[in-house]
This record gives sequence, C-alpha cells and structure tokens, in this order.
Amino acid sequence: MSEDERRIETRAIHAGQEPDEETGALMTPIYANSTYAQDGPGDHRGYEYSRTGNPTRTDLESNLAALENGSHGRAFASGMGSINTVLNLLEAGDHVVAGNDVYGGTHRIFTQVYEKYDLEFDFVDTTDHDAVRDAVRDGTELVWVETPTNPLMRVNDIGALADIAHEVDALCAVDNTFATPYLQRPLDHGADIVSHSLTKYLGGHSDVVGGALVTDDADLDEEIAFYQNSVGATPSPFDCFLVLRGTKTLPVRMDRHCDNARELAAWLDGHEAVSEVFYPGLDSHPQHDLAAEQMDDFGGMLSFELDGSLEQASTVVEETEVFTLAESLGGVESLIEQPAAMTHAAIPREERLEAGLTDGLVRVSVGIEHIDDMKADLQRAFDAAF
Ligand SMILES: *Cc1c(COP(=O)(O)O)cnc(C)c1O
Repeated sequence: MSEDERRIETRAIHAGQEPDEETGALMTPIYANSTYAQDGPGDHRGYEYSRTGNPTRTDLESNLAALENGSHGRAFASGMGSINTVLNLLEAGDHVVAGNDVYGGTHRIFTQVYEKYDLEFDFVDTTDHDAVRDAVRDGTELVWVETPTNPLMRVNDIGALADIAHEVDALCAVDNTFATPYLQRPLDHGADIVSHSLTKYLGGHSDVVGGALVTDDADLDEEIAFYQNSVGATPSPFDCFLVLRGTKTLPVRMDRHCDNARELAAWLDGHEAVSEVFYPGLDSHPQHDLAAEQMDDFGGMLSFELDGSLEQASTVVEETEVFTLAESLGGVESLIEQPAAMTHAAIPREERLEAGLTDGLVRVSVGIEHIDDMKADLQRAFDAAF
C-alpha cells in the first residue's frame, strides 16, 4: 500500500518518518547541526546549511504535507512566519482580499507591515460570496481564507472562494489552524496553499511555536522555499522534533477535542446563564450544513455569550480552574478567554460590537480533560458571577 493510500491516522505516525538507516533509531533524531561535511566542493548529500535544510525539519515537512494531502511542506519559526512567506510571493501594487474576521496577527501583518510595501488589502465578509466577487479585481493576486474563524466560528466555503480567486488568476490560501488536516483538507477543495500555526493543534501541547505552508504545486513550493531560505524564519530542529511528536497523536487528540466540544456546546446551549453558543456542530449554527460537508467533525473551539456584563464575563474566566485563563488554543488542556478584554481588545468597542464581539463573549479551547470536570468548573464560575 503506497503512503498516499494510507488513512490519516497511519500517515500521522509514519509519513516522512522512516527508521534511521544506519542505526535503526525509530524516531527522527534532533539534528543539531548548522553545517554538513561535503564530499567535494559543492558535492553534498542534500544538506549544506541548516537554514536551507535540516533533516529533522525535512521529516516534519514531509509529515505535514502528507497530512494535508499535499506534495510539499515547508516549516517556519511561527505561524506568522508562514503567513509572511505567502505575502513574500506578492509584488508591490498587488491586491489581496481577506476575511473581515481573520486572526488579529494576520490583520496586523497585512495592514501594518505590508501596506507600506504597497500591497493593498480589502477585508470582506467571506461568507458573502457576492461581496468577495465584488472585491476581487484585476491585480488581485491572493484571496486569504480562514475557516472556522475566530471567535465566532463562522465557516467559509473553501471550494467557492477558491473558484472566485481562480477566476481572476489569484492564489487562494487557507489558514487551516483551527480545523487541522484531520478535520479539513483545503487543497482537496481547490485551495493553492494551506497555512498553519503549528503552535496550536498540530504541536498540541502548548510547548512550541511554529508555522507551516503546504502546497500541491512544485513551482509554488520552489518559490516558497526560496523565501524560507532568504528570509530565514526557520524553526529549530528541537521545535521540529516537538511538532513531529505532536502530529503522531493529532487524530486521537482531535477526536476527544471534538467529542468534548460537542457535549459542552449542547450543555451551554441549554444553560440559563448563556444567551448564545457559537459552535459549527450545533444545528442552529448558520453554516452548520456547510461545516458538515466540508469538515469531518466540528473541532474543539467554541464561543458563548453570557447573559451579563463585561465584569460578569471577567469573573467567569477568572474563576475557572480546569479552564486556564490564557490566550492561544489547541493544546490538550482547556483554555478560556474573554475576547473583548484580551485577544480582540485592540479593536475599538463600537467596531467590536458591530462585528458581534460583545462584552459578554467568552471563548474556550476545549481540551481533552473529562467533560464532567469541565461542566462542573464552568458551573462553579457561573455561580460566582451571577
Ligand atoms: C495563532 C494563529 C496564527 C499565528 O501563529 P503563531 O504561531 O502564533 O505565529 C495564525 N492564524 C491563526 C488562525 C492562529 O490561531
């Protein structure tokens, strides 16, 4: 059976990770080398300098490519490093269309770093395909898609958005950090590039920062590799080792994240302290059918709106103990945060409210602890706040 035909659970453990030929070492060693002996001038064995290539990184890149059903993977020092590299593919004067609820760091690098290099950005509601069609034009070279989005868990149609991008010969890049390749494989839906923050579910243990790009196009990968090497935002061999350790258990972790999130969403949905729950797995979610089609399950992220003030929401997130008050997501442990006071605090309140980010909104990254302990923890926090 070729590697391509294997199921994702098997690829997660074996893709890119043959036992070492010389020693039989089962796990990819941490190749802590900056440089490599050459047999003659320019005559090397595939590696000459570790910014350009490192065997631990190669195994991770092959593993990530296999998970995404892509042919080429490239790893970076952070998710922002990978997003930066996609922008490196563009030229001054190019135009980019992106969702109006993209990750805050994505909005920041677009507007505060790349606008001054004369890239132009339009942010639109990417669930509204007419709005996206109106926004693309001659000179649009990239359509940037996130799905599900943060923190309201809107679901975007990757196939439809890739089609709109391709009508004007633009690339469609999808940030697949929230769903992971276990639940959603954007290249299969027509996307050209998949971007990841490895810091989240792929690393999975909140102990490493990293990023990656995956494509199915050798020419595009060659360009990406050029910028990876030229800019130099590459991950250390140790970080690559940690992410490889994480991806092996991605399928089992995601199953539990999804089961717990599904049950927690249903419980919150019926709770008197909660006015609304944002989770693609709920029938009431506006893009539930699309999510069911595009994703294999609904993920471990959800948000809910407390029927209360900013202060009451603050009390809830301060009182929980199983849920740790912290930014970030995707680790085995449950995290809780209040977007209006934390991840989205930089957005002016009026704008925030207009975007549906109310003061009482609480976001959780549902971990893999026991679901009953999570419910009891939240109930105790609700009792303290109300
Ligand atoms: C965290 C995150 C990023 C940025 O990744 P870093 O590893 O923190 O640089 C990009 N996109 C999404 C959706 C994220 O959650």
